[in-house]
Amino acid sequence: MKIENLSKTYRAKGAPPVQALRNVSFSLPEKGMVFLLGRSGSGKSTLLHILSGLENFDEGDIIYRGSRFSAFSERDRDKYRNNCCGIIFQDYSLITELTVGENIALALRLQGERDTDARVRRALDQVGLSGCEKRRVTQLSGGQKQRVAIARALVKSPRILFADEPTGALDEQTGRDILMLLKELSKERLVFVVSHDRAFAETFGDRIIELSDGSIVSDSAPAAHEEAPEPLPDLPARLPLATALKLGCNNLLRHPVRLVFTFLLSFLSLAFIGISVTAATFNEVDAYVNALYDQNAELTAVYRYETYENGYGPGGTIDSMLGLPDPDHPISITTSDIGRLEATVGTPVAPVFVTDLSSIQTNFSVSSAQELVNRINAAVSSDPDDHYDFTPNGYLQIDEELLQFLGYRLTGTLPATTDEIAIPDCLLNAFKVLGLRENGTDYPISCAEDIIGHTIRLEFVLGNVITGQTQPRTITGVIDTGCGISCKGSHAVYQGGLNSIIGGEHYHDLLFVCEGYLPEYSYAVVTLPDDRPTRTELVKLAANSSDGQEFLRLSNSFSSDFRDACMYAALLQNLCLYLCAVFLIFAFLLLINFISASVHDKLQQMGILYALGAGFRENVKIYTGSALLIGAALFLLSSAFMPLYVSLANAFIASYVPAAPALFSVTFWPFAAVFAIALAATFLGSFLAMLRYRRRAPAEIIRMGQS
Ligand code: ADP
Ligand code: MG
Repeated sequence: MKIENLSKTYRAKGAPPVQALRNVSFSLPEKGMVFLLGRSGSGKSTLLHILSGLENFDEGDIIYRGSRFSAFSERDRDKYRNNCCGIIFQDYSLITELTVGENIALALRLQGERDTDARVRRALDQVGLSGCEKRRVTQLSGGQKQRVAIARALVKSPRILFADEPTGALDEQTGRDILMLLKELSKERLVFVVSHDRAFAETFGDRIIELSDGSIVSDSAPAAHEEAPEPLPDLPARLPLATALKLGCNNLLRHPVRLVFTFLLSFLSLAFIGISVTAATFNEVDAYVNALYDQNAELTAVYRYETYENGYGPGGTIDSMLGLPDPDHPISITTSDIGRLEATVGTPVAPVFVTDLSSIQTNFSVSSAQELVNRINAAVSSDPDDHYDFTPNGYLQIDEELLQFLGYRLTGTLPATTDEIAIPDCLLNAFKVLGLRENGTDYPISCAEDIIGHTIRLEFVLGNVITGQTQPRTITGVIDTGCGISCKGSHAVYQGGLNSIIGGEHYHDLLFVCEGYLPEYSYAVVTLPDDRPTRTELVKLAANSSDGQEFLRLSNSFSSDFRDACMYAALLQNLCLYLCAVFLIFAFLLLINFISASVHDKLQQMGILYALGAGFRENVKIYTGSALLIGAALFLLSSAFMPLYVSLANAFIASYVPAAPALFSVTFWPFAAVFAIALAATFLGSFLAMLRYRRRAPAEIIRMGQS
């Protein structure tokens, strides 16, 4: 090793510059024991730090086996420290979080060594500390620490051993033992010892260089030494992840209260962000499909709506009387709508025509409306299990496939021409009580077969006034919709099949007709397939079908509550948008602050690790690795609570629209957001803090950690 015109001046802020080395030049052999003597403050430690790659210099250069320090990359410097040097610090610089054994093993680990036990034991034997592996560094005396520091330096059999006052804290005898050990080691390597003890130097040294005020004043054996050029050994420092995480976590746990506080606040912020993202990524189509599932809906009605041009409907509606906007109204659904719906769901779609029909008097064997009502009431009170209806609400176009799907039972046949109809069993029940009157003749009816083949005329009513009558329609069949059994005055039977399409309206009493009968369609009954993608397609079709003034709309028992709830979902979205930004910044600052503070707390340790040969990567493993663990823990905890956030968001909506179906469900996006935020904040917090020290010399980082 050749040292050429080396100069170093310390320039500390607010203090006059101190020139620690002045134009120092000499050569060092590859083997032997060289002592550097000088009074305190003469620059010995500075020179040793520069030679071992811990400190920068201002002028001159050092050439080690053909490699110039001035041309070293960051990686070269790390390689040089890790593979060529063993350093015994004047102040020991042990890592207090680790045990004696771990401190020594660390040096080996940094060289990629896995089995360290035997070599650690041998190193401890060499310095007379056998069996002390498990002891804590903080419990050792100064002399013992000194010996651990020596063991750590020699355990990796470095090419050069640098020792800064290795006997300073030792008694005479131990000091002598240590120097004999170093002397022994110097047979195979260069041992460079800084000391102020001239007696020891003269006993053990092969050569003594004396320093005074930063300049060499004497050299017992100056030799112009030529080294054969040789590339630096390429053993990159590799710290096992487990060791790195252990060190890192140790650091984080040093301030448990601050850690818990930061963790909880970040967790709460992330919880809020989770809710916000759930609301922000709310999707009406998905929510509607979920609601269809939750309600076990087998059918849905599809209407075509038209919007009023100015947002207000014509007079006469409740909304217009209240002066409220009345944006839209239902109009006829078209045959092409029916085709599109059928193509989308692949299951039967049936059009319905709603109109007020009545069979009062003309079709029944009664003399007055009053008699009709009295007899039905008497029948209901004697057998409340049966259900009676004599005023059908409209027509349903039905075919074999739909009949099958609805699970209705047919007696007779389905209507095949526009002169034919099938009746629901609740209408048959009315005929059973009242009898049938056809062309002036009365027929008793006791079962479905009795009425099949007879004709009735359907009457249109407005209030109680008959406004028109159809030609006779032949009854071809009776369809049991399930509403005639066990009605028991409750609405239980309405809740299945066709009876439950829209809350408040019952469709159990429609007349059944064939294709081509209906003059127009009020809405379509769509039978829902079981699979989610098809249901989603259907809801999407309705949601995206708007063409200017007209659009399709699904109608189910929950529809109007659903639409109300969506307005509150939009409110929540807006509310969260700004608060979420605040919480996002808060969580970020909190985490970055905590993590970078815990890195700054550990500067001394980071410097020592650099000094031992760890590169930036290993330190990133330690500090960023443990920070990411915090991020991951935050993410996992937040994820575990995600269903709770979602139900909180749903509870918010339910507080305004209690009957609404649950709008929000657990989706991918809040997880992704919380993951990204937790990891980005912890990563940036540690990485940015570490970048600040990347270009600094290890000795400088250690000093910063001490001050
Ligand atoms: P020695 O090891 O021989 O006692 P040092 O190399 O530690 O001497 O110090 C040499 C000179 O440089 C001293 O005057 C000391 O005060 C000064 N010095 C050492 N380190 C620093 C520093 N980080 N900042 C400013 N001055 C320093
Ligand atoms: Mg010193």
